[in-house]
Amino acid sequence: MNNAINMTIHNFGAGPSVLPKEVFEEASRAIIDFNNTGLSILEIGHRTTLFQPVMDEARALVKELMNLNDDHEVLFLHGGATTQFMQVPMNLLNDTELAAYTDTGAWASKAIKEAKLFGHVEIAGSAKETNYTTIPKELSVSPTAAYLHITTNETIAGTQWKNIPYDCGVPLVADMSSDILSRVLDFNKFDIIYAGAQKNMGAAGVNLVVVNKNILGKVTRSIPSILDYRNHIKEGSMMNTPPVFAVYVVMLTLRWLKNLGGVAAIEKINNAKAELFYSTLDSLPIFRGVVAKEDRSYMNGVFVIDDAGLEKEFLDLCKQEGMIGVKGHRSVGGFRISMYNALQYESVVAVTDLMKEFAKKNA
Ligand SMILES: *Cc1c(COP(=O)(O)O)cnc(C)c1O
Repeated sequence: MNNAINMTIHNFGAGPSVLPKEVFEEASRAIIDFNNTGLSILEIGHRTTLFQPVMDEARALVKELMNLNDDHEVLFLHGGATTQFMQVPMNLLNDTELAAYTDTGAWASKAIKEAKLFGHVEIAGSAKETNYTTIPKELSVSPTAAYLHITTNETIAGTQWKNIPYDCGVPLVADMSSDILSRVLDFNKFDIIYAGAQKNMGAAGVNLVVVNKNILGKVTRSIPSILDYRNHIKEGSMMNTPPVFAVYVVMLTLRWLKNLGGVAAIEKINNAKAELFYSTLDSLPIFRGVVAKEDRSYMNGVFVIDDAGLEKEFLDLCKQEGMIGVKGHRSVGGFRISMYNALQYESVVAVTDLMKEFAKKNA
């Protein structure tokens, strides 16, 4: 993107975050005139023949890109991933039962807190003792647990599960908000996958939920209609007014991903970006990565400079060079470079060049 004075802007923000330029262009056209109808996408009814194909295509693209079997239903829901912290246990966990959770950071901790409102929680693995700079390697999951919950990418800590515990022996639930569709996984081995769209697949305002329908209907509590996954499956994500524009932006982003070659193709690009970023980080002693090497996130690179003055200087330099969203999360400090699907390789080249220049100047 270019700003008013025509400087190239690189957006490393953690979310909402960069999307493909084509998506911005097409979405903005649709606000004025959607598919040559003379109507804005913002004013069309969700049950019309104008919007239904958008919802259908978005769901079909998720199925195709994730290679999902017919047991897995694709839903687009409101409320952000934070609502799923509550909706998952409400639909899967009886109050006398146990659910296994992994504690890998700020996001996992929030999921755990909500689950405790609905049943018992056991911590199957924790990274608390390393201050969330690692991913637990040995898990202990009770065979009676209703499910195991993992956060595949901890957006704030900058860690990512490389070995998914597919064989944990109980249904597997994952918060994939910050690495959804960024790498090839065996998506059919998950019973629930949820993700807020605003990091890797669209605009804020909609949640992707993939659910294996066979795990539903086992809790005894009454579930409010709008929170019962079965109702959303039955109604095709149209139980009430869906976030029409946000679903449209997801559909455009998924089309872009498909045209690029799908998840395997974007994974290659994401690997190249992360390898360039981390090899640069490791070659410059002035910067220090905070995450254990084998657990580093390929989406969110978290690092520091052990000198507050220089840290501020580097942040100012980034700003001056049009690099946006580089400041680390307030709970961690330092810097965070988010490298989501739509972030171009050239942006990682730009920031790593700046890191090299900065290191040289301050050697
Ligand atoms: C951003 C994020 C969330 C929260 O998403 P909302 O849509 O703001 O509710 C949850 N989990 C992870 C891993 C995230 O990165």
